[in-house]
Amino acid sequence: MVSESQLTLALSKGRILEETLPLLARVGIVPEEDPASSRRLILGTSRPSVRLIIVRPTDVPTYVLHGGADLGVTGKDILMEQSGSILYEPLDLRIGRCRLVLAGREGRGQAGAQPRVATKYVAATRAFFAARGQQVDVIKLYGSMELAPLVGLADWIVDLVDTGNTLRANGLVPLETLMEISARLVVNPASWKTKHASVRALVAALAEVVEAERGVQ
Ligand code: AMP
Repeated sequence: MVSESQLTLALSKGRILEETLPLLARVGIVPEEDPASSRRLILGTSRPSVRLIIVRPTDVPTYVLHGGADLGVTGKDILMEQSGSILYEPLDLRIGRCRLVLAGREGRGQAGAQPRVATKYVAATRAFFAARGQQVDVIKLYGSMELAPLVGLADWIVDLVDTGNTLRANGLVPLETLMEISARLVVNPASWKTKHASVRALVAALAEVVEAERGVQ
């Protein structure tokens, strides 16, 4: 029998973690401590060959790209903003689902000739307006995008929307959907080759669980 390779999986706290842990449990990987409450950044699991590291969501691609982790789970929103990287993205986990949306103030007509758009998602926003041939000024923010149109910083925002409650609470309405977002499993290209059997087995097991979930949705 071929021995199992040691695998490190990068996860981040928050919505995606809550939905990733049940998927991992179904393939027999249960952390030794609850990552949501533990202060430890490296956690062993019920499977001796698999450990978890807990990093910031935007750092997941960096850890995986540079081999600090063999695999990671992160949102498509983060991956598309870091499009220069060459991570393998073998599986849509169909969790952490939301939409990347263009939104503006309710009851406000058209913005001016060169609207200002506030967003954390600069690359996706530029690509969206470039594809339409529309000139906009993109203003980079790191959070609370919904505030920008309310104080006149921007005409529109581009942000993630799940229930729509945050937009509504701030008098904003969705205008267009740029793309559907979900969490992806990403793999370090070197690990994909050197730890092929173990990585492929984990990806296949997770794919089966995701497919079974799709059946009950
Ligand atoms: P909601 O009020 O449910 O539409 O959620 C909107 C807020 O949650 C915004 O501040 C978004 O940036 C954030 N958000 C929504 N979905 C996600 C997600 N899947 N991952 C991270 N942040 C999200």
